[in-house]
Amino acid sequence: MKEVLQSTDSITGQTLRLPDEAEALAPLIVNDRIAIGVVPGVNDRAARLVAGFELTEYELGVLANHYLNRLRSSEFDSRVYEQSGSYDIRMRPFADRRLATIREVMGPVAFDAAIAETEKKWDAAFEKAEQDEERLAPCPACGARRKLVDEIHTPGGSCAACDQPRGVAVAAGEMT
Ligand SMILES: [Zn+2]
Repeated sequence: MKEVLQSTDSITGQTLRLPDEAEALAPLIVNDRIAIGVVPGVNDRAARLVAGFELTEYELGVLANHYLNRLRSSEFDSRVYEQSGSYDIRMRPFADRRLATIREVMGPVAFDAAIAETEKKWDAAFEKAEQDEERLAPCPACGARRKLVDEIHTPGGSCAACDQPRGVAVAAGEMT
């Protein structure tokens, strides 16, 4: 029999039943008191499974869009800012797993139809980021192609390699 995923409510001390998709996504507890990576609805008390409510197919579609937006916006931030944090490393697998479960319940045809518009919106956003990056002027110091994250840090400035401390820049220069 499959083990039921559980957590303890930090406020009431009650045992909470969590969705299977929350497996291995618990917050990191430091010194028994600091929790890093508490993500509402993924690994806190709001992630507890509720009983006695059945969803309609329409509602499942709404949920699918919710998790797709969470997943893609996190991926988009990584694409543009080239960073991901304790939220992203938990939300992404959770959203991905919930989407797979919803797809299984709805069936691929209804699922794909429900998320089609949202998929299109994100595809366009990623495509636009690609184009924006291609339009950036090259690094004035070395002529290399600059990334969106370089432009965010120093508008019109140099590339990441040229922004590094001198020693690193020299080493990078030697490789080219
Ligand atoms: Zn450069």
